[in-house]
Parts: sequence; structure tokens; C-alpha cells
Amino acid sequence: MGKPTGFLEYPRELPLVHSPAERIHNWSEFHEHAEEKQLRTQGARCMDCGVPFCHTGSLIEGMAAGCPINNLIPEWNDLVYRGLWREALDRLHKTNNFPEFTGRVCPAPCEGSCVLGINEPPVTIKAIECAIVDKGFEEGWIVPEPPAVRTGKKVAVIGSGPAGLSAAAQLNRAGHWVTVFERADRIGGLLMYGIPNMKLDKREVVQRRIDLLKAEGVAFVTNCEVGKDYPADKLRKQFDAIVLCGGATKPRDLPIEGRQLSGIHYAMEFLHANTKSLLDSRLADGAYISAKGKDVVVIGGGDTGTDCVGTSMRHGCKSLVQFEILPVPPLTRAADNPWPQWPKVYKLDYGQEEAEAIFGKDPREYLINTKKFVGDANGRVKELHTVRVEWVKDNGRIFPREVPGTERAFPAQLVLLAMGFLGPENQLLDQLGVEKDARSNAKAEHGAFATSVPGVFAAGDMRRGQSLVVWAINEGRGAARECDRYLMGDTQLP
Ligand SMILES: Cc1cc2nc3c(=O)[nH]c(=O)nc-3n(C[C@H](O)[C@H](O)[C@H](O)COP(=O)(O)OP(=O)(O)OC[C@H]3O[C@@H](n4cnc5c(N)ncnc54)[C@H](O)[C@@H]3O)c2cc1C
Ligand code: SF4
Repeated sequence: MGKPTGFLEYPRELPLVHSPAERIHNWSEFHEHAEEKQLRTQGARCMDCGVPFCHTGSLIEGMAAGCPINNLIPEWNDLVYRGLWREALDRLHKTNNFPEFTGRVCPAPCEGSCVLGINEPPVTIKAIECAIVDKGFEEGWIVPEPPAVRTGKKVAVIGSGPAGLSAAAQLNRAGHWVTVFERADRIGGLLMYGIPNMKLDKREVVQRRIDLLKAEGVAFVTNCEVGKDYPADKLRKQFDAIVLCGGATKPRDLPIEGRQLSGIHYAMEFLHANTKSLLDSRLADGAYISAKGKDVVVIGGGDTGTDCVGTSMRHGCKSLVQFEILPVPPLTRAADNPWPQWPKVYKLDYGQEEAEAIFGKDPREYLINTKKFVGDANGRVKELHTVRVEWVKDNGRIFPREVPGTERAFPAQLVLLAMGFLGPENQLLDQLGVEKDARSNAKAEHGAFATSVPGVFAAGDMRRGQSLVVWAINEGRGAARECDRYLMGDTQLP
């Protein structure tokens, strides 16, 4: 531990962020880099606990407590405090292939289980992680490291999100020839076309890592949907093993009256088209769904909904409401949500901060359900009819009951459905004959990652359902390890 009294001396300080009212006028990342001095004192707050819950990554009540990739957090906090940045970077890369992604977009379950967080604000673990890797790139320490020896084995990775990229990085490191197939026109999965640019810069951050992987020998094939453009049986013949990382891309629909009206879109149609147009032409080609001048309603209070809010704010929407069927969370941990669990507490995420700065209040409406969409004479949505709900228990079942007399109409010319995802698409799994679990995900045990078909592995959202970037990295690395063992009879991969 760098400084035994650090946590007593220094308060938690995060890097500056651009003000919400300013940042909605551009698509740049909104976090500033912290000063080195500040980062070192923040590192000094780490207590190097006897049992560092921050890096355990265990599941409690179905949610991660601690870092799912077991980042060696107390070690690099200490190295940063001592100014040993290069050593901190090496320690960070031992467990995480892409700290520049998690350092920007991870919800940081590590901080929820930081021991200091029991009675003080936790250590700024995520900001320190980001600073270590950003410094590594600035200093030129991160360079391609192709394997010294090739095994001659060929592996196909399907899908180029964080699971596919981490699997590819690890398998390439083990000396196999890796080809990543991606049906989109750009590599990155949801890192490229889901999470918006202001949270994770596509050219400067995502593409930079893809270029490194290419330089290390990973081959990428874009605009190629395996199972459609490239038959599954050909894949089996041409590769010694396959790692499926196709994500959980089937969106949950809201099949109520008026759903067919125009102006109602899945969140991913909106977000994907926006980032593609932004990257292709700075939005000059108009090939995106614009929220400009519109009353926007986002249905769904999660991360995807928040990204729709932030994107709509940047388009210049007229008004914005975000619906959430659950009650507003408490301001501090509830009794049934103790440390080191992930704290389920009320917070304004970046999109809500921006809406509040412009419209004067948090855009979220809690405990609300949409009953129907109403259109105009041209078949375009013009309003949503809603009702308030209360959560009740009946025979052990908890469900939302409508509250009579609370019906209301909201004007809307753009409705974005962000109610989660139902699992992976079936086509490729069916063609390969891969068994599915009860939730329609590819069936493969966490840790083994082997599907019902020998030589075919599954990782990330395709195996566990819609989750987090950090879990996708955990699974990609694990699937690579097991794939390497299958190919070579043994493995040195962690
Ligand atoms: C809008 C949005 C915002 C999010 N924000 C965050 C966040 O801030 N922080 C966080 O931790 N998590 C976030 N998540 C969740 C996170 O992005 C995912 O859990 C993670 O990307 C899953 O990684 P993956 O590699 O399993 O799949 P994905 O990233 O979904 O990648 C799968 C890829 O496979 C491709 N593919 C599918 N089938 C085929 C095929 N047959 N042939 C070729 N290619 C195929 C798809 O085109 C896709 O590019 C967000 C999710 C969404 C939808
Ligand atoms: S990857 Fe996420 S959980 Fe792990 S140390 Fe980084 S911010 Fe924390």
C-alpha cells in the first residue's frame, strides 16, 4: 500500500466532465483527463485491504460484486501512487485486454464493493484504470506484440464485439491464426455501433485497438453474416475451431395498439444509424433517424435508453421523456442491498443530466406503462397513452397493477423502444446444431464455454444474454483458453 493514511487525507475526486449544456453540442467524449497529481492521490486512497472485494468478481443476488475480470486493482493503485505507470500498465494488461474500453464504459462494480465505500466514497478505480491505459498509449508503450511462434491452427471468431475481440486477442497470442467475421461494415460490435461516440470514441479509441490487433496478425472480415453470406458447414471445414460471439441482438418489442405507426423504432435502429452516419459523413448524409424538433419518448430506463436520451439531446429534440416501469430507486442502499453488492440507488446518468440541464428536470417517469400509440392521418405516431402502476404481491408473484384514474397522454413524434433484449438470433446456432438454454442463449457452461458441438465455443452476450462489456471480456478470454486447450491438449492462457 502506497500511503497508509491516504484514505484519511484525500477526498474522492473524479476527473472533470464537460458541462451537460455545452457537451450536447458535439459528439466528443465528455470526460477530461485527470491531472497526474490528482490521480496519484486518488491511488493513495486505496487501503490494499486484506480481502480486496474490488477484484473478486463474484455474483451476489445475480449481480457482479467486484471486477468480473479480476483486475489487480490494489496493485495498480499502489503503482500509480508511486508514479510507476509503466508497471501499472503491465499489471493492468495481465487481466484486461482492453482497459481503454472498460475505463470508459464499465459501470464499475469494483467501486460498489470497495471496502472504503462502506463508510466513505469509494476509490476512483475506473478513472485510474482509464488513466493508466491512456498514458500507455500517449507514451507509446502499447505496441503490436505478434506471437513469436504460430501453431498452424485456424480459429474463426463470429462477431467482433468485446467478447469476440478478447477471444481473438488471446487466441492470437497463443499462436493460432484467427479470423473474425462481422456482419456490420465496421468492427467492434456494440463498442462501435451501440455505445455512442460521446461515451466511447470510435476512431480514437475503438479503431486504435482494432488496428493493433490487425498488426498482431488477427484477420477481420466485415459485411459477412455467417450462416447467410458464409455457410456454417464451410466454416466447419475451413477452421479447426469456432468461437461464437454474436451477441444478444433480438430486441424486446411492445406489441400494443398502434405499434405499426411510423416514428416508432427499436433503440438499436436509432443508435446504429446515428453512429454510422456520424462516422461516414458527420451526419451530412442524413442517413439516420433524427430527433430534431420532435417530442421524444424513450421507453426503458436502462443504459440503452440513456444512450437514446443523450443522442436525442444532441439532435436537438423539442422535449424528452423516459419511461421506467419500476419505482424510483432509494437515494442510499436499501437494507436488502448491503455492501458489497452492486448499489441499486438513484443516480443521474449522463443522458438524464443533459436533459435536466436543458428541460429543467430528470426526464424519467417512474411506475408508468404504455397502453397504446395513437397516430395522425398520415400514419405517423403523435401520442402515447399511459397509465401509472403500482407493484403488488399476490401469491408470491410480484407484478405491476394499473392505478385507476391515472391515464395520461404524452405527445410524441419519435418513440424509441429500449426495453432490453431477448437473446441471440437463431439462424447460425441452428445451422451449426448448437443447443440452446431455456432463455434461448447458446448453451455452454461458464468456465468451460464449450457448446453441444465439439470444437464450437460460445462467449459473451450470445451465451449469457445481454450484459456488460466487462463480462464479455471475461467470457472471450475464458472461451479462448478453453478453445486453446481443445486445439493443443493443454493451455498457458489465463
Ligand atoms: C445501446 C447499448 C449501450 C450499452 N452500454 C454499455 C455500457 O455503457 N457499459 C457496458 O459495460 N455495457 C454496455 N452495454 C452492453 C454491452 O455493450 C454488451 O454486453 C457487450 O457489447 C456484449 O459483447 P459481445 O461481444 O457479446 O456482443 P456484441 O457487442 O453485441 O457483438 C456481437 C457482434 O456479432 C455480430 N454478429 C452477430 N451474428 C453474426 C453473424 N452471424 N455473422 C457475423 N457477425 C455476427 C453483430 O453484428 C455484433 O457486431 C450496452 C448495450 C447496448 C445495446
Ligand atoms: S473493468 Fe470495470 S469492474 Fe473491473 S476494475 Fe475496471 S471499472 Fe472496475
